[in-house]
Amino acid sequence: MNDTYKHSEVTESDTTLNAILDLIVEGTWDWNGETGHVTRSPGWYRMLGYEVGIFLENVFTWENIIHPDDYKRVMTHFEQYINGQSTQYLIEYRCKKSDGSYLWIIDRAKIQAYKADGTVARMIGAHHNIHNKKLAQDEVSKLNKLLQQGNMSLDNLIKINAKELEKKNQELEEKIKEVALLSNIDPLTSIANRRSFEKELQKEVLRSRRYNHPLSLTIFDIDLFKNVNDTYGHKKGDDILQKLCKLVSTNIRELDFFARWGGEEFVLIFPELTLKQALVVTEKLRTTISQYEIEPDLYITCSFGVTECKDEDSIEDIFQRIDNSLYQAKSNGRNRIESL
Ligand code: GH3
Ligand code: MG
Ligand code: MG
Repeated sequence: MNDTYKHSEVTESDTTLNAILDLIVEGTWDWNGETGHVTRSPGWYRMLGYEVGIFLENVFTWENIIHPDDYKRVMTHFEQYINGQSTQYLIEYRCKKSDGSYLWIIDRAKIQAYKADGTVARMIGAHHNIHNKKLAQDEVSKLNKLLQQGNMSLDNLIKINAKELEKKNQELEEKIKEVALLSNIDPLTSIANRRSFEKELQKEVLRSRRYNHPLSLTIFDIDLFKNVNDTYGHKKGDDILQKLCKLVSTNIRELDFFARWGGEEFVLIFPELTLKQALVVTEKLRTTISQYEIEPDLYITCSFGVTECKDEDSIEDIFQRIDNSLYQAKSNGRNRIESL
């Protein structure tokens, strides 16, 4: 590394470094592999149009803004680098901006320190805006293709564009149908449905293994809900399901994933929580629900099963354990939590 500065005081270096980080348009990031903490420069937020410092300083912030079509490619490249299978980390991909559009960036980074066990202790990198260059490249390669086909007359171009437009419209219609069919949202409660939960769980299991972070899961089922339906009618039962989902949604972290498993059964994914921590959160939910007057003079309770995912677990093992723990909570008297 070339030493441009030679400061005699640490505070002097800090002042220089912070002033530079505040001025440069590149977004720099500094990941501490020991704590999971990620420091991002003001330029990083500005490049993507976000208020400086608005996000949590962890890797999820980064992962959450990567374009879904680029995500797998980025993770594979990242893993290959931190596992020593490739010698450099250098990759182009799209990041989500505050207005919902995506910006092409190039991400460069270097490992700065290793832990005693050989895994990464610190990595520093920078995101650089290459959006315009990327769009220009796409345009050039499109024109090149046309040139090669000998179709460069304006007349031909217009015809091709009209055809392309028609094709795109057809594709769009197909997509809309597909999206409706593959929706990830449960129509009654507006929370995630089972299909999206299963996808999310697979993603979280991989993530917890990649970063060696804990991951826990809670399932819960309304107690004797059939009686509620029988007494108050199915419509009121539906209202109660909706209110319960609102209550739970407002009592979990943004990081947690809440979904309807089916009927009056729900699941929660708790990234970063050990079994012990998940039990504390679940107990809070259990009491919050049981003390909430969901309809005038009406209270409901739920039974809960909790488990922590282990490295050797298959998805089926995890399901089996929370299912069994919920069954135990029901047979041990309901309105309680069991864990396996
Ligand atoms: P347990 O404590 O053992 O879970 O008793 P339970 O009565 O809740 O369990 P059971 O499986 O016997 O009944 C589930 C009830 O949940 C019956 C069903 O009508 C009701 N239910 C499931 N989905 C919906 C729904 O979408 N809307 C309404 N209103 N009720 C639902
Ligand atoms: Mg029930
Ligand atoms: Mg049930």
